[in-house]
Amino acid sequence: MRVSPHVHALLLNCEIELASGARIPRFVPAYVIEAERLTVVDTAVRSSAPIIFDYIESIGRKPEEIEYVIHTHGHFDHVGGNGIFAERATPRFWAHPNDKAIIESLEYQERVRPVGRMREQNTSGDVTVTDLLHDGDTLDLGGGVRVDVFHTPGHSPGSVSLFIPWDGTLFCGDVLPEPGAIPIYEDVRQTLDSLTTLRGVSGATVLLSQLSDQVWTGDDVRRHIDDGEAYVRRVDRTIRQTADRIGKSALFEEVCRTVLRELGLPEAAGALPIYQTTVMAHRATEPLGELST
Ligand SMILES: [Zn+2]
Repeated sequence: MRVSPHVHALLLNCEIELASGARIPRFVPAYVIEAERLTVVDTAVRSSAPIIFDYIESIGRKPEEIEYVIHTHGHFDHVGGNGIFAERATPRFWAHPNDKAIIESLEYQERVRPVGRMREQNTSGDVTVTDLLHDGDTLDLGGGVRVDVFHTPGHSPGSVSLFIPWDGTLFCGDVLPEPGAIPIYEDVRQTLDSLTTLRGVSGATVLLSQLSDQVWTGDDVRRHIDDGEAYVRRVDRTIRQTADRIGKSALFEEVCRTVLRELGLPEAAGALPIYQTTVMAHRATEPLGELST
């Protein structure tokens, strides 16, 4: 669906199979930026590639025209189609240097950040990151359309947000924690600093967060960023109160599960290493307190 003059958003299905055999249905958005240069933001998972190609044909363009694939970050569910894209269109792959290694070797990513059977189930091969994105960079997509790059780490070290001034569209990848979803980030302070960066993007009138299936517009852009920050602070309080209540001798996994229950989330996710990383990140940080606006 077209969400702004040059941007199309596709909501793609993805299933995560855990080591236990449990299957978690998820979604992941990917985006097509339609300008003189045809660009795809993240390739989602392996099964998404033909859906993205069909969509591109439905708007009168050809998959072979894709010149750029820009990665908001390197996690499996954002790079899973890369191998197929590389065969079909030979695009240039852009990413921040801090996530380059996990994109270029999915086997390495599986070792340092395991997520069930994601690699085997949902990815299509390694590619070389041909171009590096840095904070302050601008990519020219032709016809007066440009993409501004903001380094917004926290969810991953190499997460970036992208802004198209012409459209007012801000892509924040997985950087903005979604209230009511399992909190997944590696660094709490960096996450909050990145939300400050997002608030500072002037002219952002459309917000595309890949942790949400909604498109946020107008005043809701700022409101949703504030809601994400309030959620991080709530998670922080819940972790500290839970640890105090169940005592220092409690097993770490028990703390993780109890926090999820307190947040109204499925306790089974307490065993997920990517969620446990979030809990450890809060414990390594001073208490956050309340959001002051
Ligand atoms: Zn991610």
